Formats: sequence, C-alpha cells, structure tokens
Amino acid sequence: MAYRVTLIPGDGTGPELVDATRRVLEATGVAFDWDHQVAGEEVMHEHGGNPLPDPTLESIRINKVALKGPITTPVGGGFRSVNVALRKELDMYAQVRPCKSYPGVRSRFQDVDLVIIRENTEDLYAGIEYEQGSEDAEELIAWIESKGGRLRWDDAGLSIKPISVTGTRRIFEFAFDWARRNGRRQVTAVHKANIMKFSDGLWLRVAREVAAENDDILFNDRIVDNMCMQLVQRPEEYDVLVLPNLYGDVLSDLCAGMIGGLGMAPGANHGEDVAVFEPTHGSAPKYAGQNKANPMAELLSGVLMLRHLDEHDAARRVERAIAAVIREGTRVTYDMKPTRDDPTAVGTSEVADAIIERLGDA
Ligand code: NAD
Repeated sequence: MAYRVTLIPGDGTGPELVDATRRVLEATGVAFDWDHQVAGEEVMHEHGGNPLPDPTLESIRINKVALKGPITTPVGGGFRSVNVALRKELDMYAQVRPCKSYPGVRSRFQDVDLVIIRENTEDLYAGIEYEQGSEDAEELIAWIESKGGRLRWDDAGLSIKPISVTGTRRIFEFAFDWARRNGRRQVTAVHKANIMKFSDGLWLRVAREVAAENDDILFNDRIVDNMCMQLVQRPEEYDVLVLPNLYGDVLSDLCAGMIGGLGMAPGANHGEDVAVFEPTHGSAPKYAGQNKANPMAELLSGVLMLRHLDEHDAARRVERAIAAVIREGTRVTYDMKPTRDDPTAVGTSEVADAIIERLGDA
C-alpha cells in the first residue's frame, strides 16, 4: 500500500530540494502517493491573497504527514510567515531537530548525535507583549506594583512567559515517546528553574512527573547556561534534549553549528496527529533554479519521515547512503567542499543521483 503524503515544494530552492528528496525516497522501494499542494507568495494570487490555502491545510489534516520545502517570508510586510501559520493552524507543538555528525563534514566537533525537542507554542514566543509607554503596559506595571512586584524602571516593554502544566506535560510525553520509538536512551530537561520558579520551575516539576511514568528511559536535567557549556565540552554525554520555546530556538542553532551548519540540519514539526518534515534552513533564494543548493537537510528530513512511517529499513539505507556520499566527498555541493569555489562541486540533483546509486550497498 502506498503512503499518501502531502508534498509542498515551497519556493526559492525548495522545489529542487524536494524533488531530489522525492526521487531518493521513491528509490527505496517504499511506495508513495504524493498529494501535491502549494503555499507561499507565488501562489497567493490564485487563492484570494491567502499564502496558506485551505486545500493545503486540509490535505495535511487528512494525510497526517507532509514533506515540505522552505517557503520565503517577504521582507517588509505582505504576510506573516507561512511556516509559523502552518505550525499554529495545525497546533504543531513539538519541533524535532536531530543534530548528528557525519564523517566528512567540516566541523570543529565529531561524534555529535543529539536531538533537540523544542516546545513550540508557549514561553516568551507566545506573542503576549505590551509595548513600552502603551496604556496596557502602564496598567500592567501598575497592577504588578500593586501586588508588591518591583520593576527597576517603569519605562519598560513587557513580554509574558506562559508555561503551562498541559503544554509541558504534552511535550514531555511526546519526547519520551519519540525517544522510545527511535531507540534513544536518555532525555534531558533544560530549564532555568533556579531563577524562574513559576515558569521553568513548573516545567521541571512536570518533566520529573512524566519521567517517573517513563522510567525505561534515563532522565536528568540541566540549567540552560550550564547546558551550553556542557554541549561544547562533552556533547557525547547527551542524547535527547527537551527545551521550552526560546532556549530551544537558541540551542537548536548551536547544535546545528556543531554538525556543520544549516545545510545538514533536518527538522520535523509534530502536532497531536500530524507531522510536517522540513529542513531547518530557509529558501536560499539567491540559488533558486540553479541546481546548486545542498539537499542533505531536506533528504535527512525525508529520513525522519520514513522513521515516522515505521519504514526503518528504508530510513537506515538512505541514511547510510547519505553518509557514504558525504564520506567520499566527491559528489557533494559546493558548501561541503574545502573551498566554496571548488570546481568539482556537483549540483542538487547529482547529489540525489549519487545517493540513489549507493542505496543498494550492503
Ligand atoms: P536561509 O537558510 O535561506 O539562508 C541562510 C544562508 O545559508 C544563505 O547564505 C543561504 O544561501 C545558505 N543556505 C541555506 N540553505 C542552503 C542549502 N540547502 N544549500 C546551500 N546553502 C544554503 O535563511 P534566510 O536567508 O534567512 O531566509 C531565506 C528565506 O527563507 C526567508 O524568507 C525566510 O523567512 C525563509 N525561511 C523559511 C523557513 C521555512 O520554510 N521553514 C525557515 C527559515 C527561513
């Protein structure tokens, strides 16, 4: 039976990256019935000015799985990020970003194999903000002071940091489940509970409760600043890290940097019963249509999708083929060569060809 999967090519370099990934996934022998859908600036005029058309959302809701290319957010207005809107519409509360080093990738670090799970709906990114000098901000400051709170200066803007029991419980339940399904051994809760007792403190308390219900997986916790130091000193001691929104945003870039940068960082967004797989990087518009961009992050997102579909053998084969092509270092894009103007660099589609050739290797 073929898997029906929503396929969103995106824009910029997205269509080339998604096409390369689609070809590799099909070459595994796993059958896909792609449901082609669109989103972004280029298609909004066909959908009454909506960059995230209803049929696209509906398709993901029905198929429950999507493979997506990056989508450009126009600078200076137009519309808000389609990527953020998609996560909101589908309540995709968990962002998964594996960061794994492959020999042959230029990086200061070797043997990194971490997974960042970021809560994606709460925390300082919840969008509850009050502009300095506004009536609302002044009212809120007056209310805080009436409760005995003290602001250093009252000409402050305010961003509220909500962290709920419900949101924390569901991200940790997701994280333990993900860890178990993917053969991981340890979950680390990252926080600043020593300072923010009622938000991060709650996060840590609920994390411990969920950990006690999942005692087949090791659990520990780290304060976020100490976590950063430990990650660069001994990343091998860590496995799955679970973070609130803001720390998750920062540490996922830190870890992407440790494994060779954005070109190597895949991602997935999970909701209650939907999952959208996409690379961490953006649409790299300056390379659009040039068969130049590195497809590795989109391909590795495809590997995550195979695992999500329980196609573990195909996932292993694609990952091994990717690792072999990287190790050889010949048929890779310009950004994986020792210098960026290396004339031996190949294009996006040739990388896919090289990986397809290696799929059959034992
Ligand atoms: P970007 O990730 O597109 O590019 C950052 C740098 O990395 C650029 O130099 C780019 O050329 C390079 N790069 C990125 N991906 C590459 C690849 N696969 N191969 C080789 N080089 C690559 O980030 P940006 O320039 O800040 O964003 C461009 C657009 O993408 C923006 O409109 C942004 O909003 C959007 N964006 C979309 C998503 C998404 O769809 N999920 C995520 C991030 C950014």
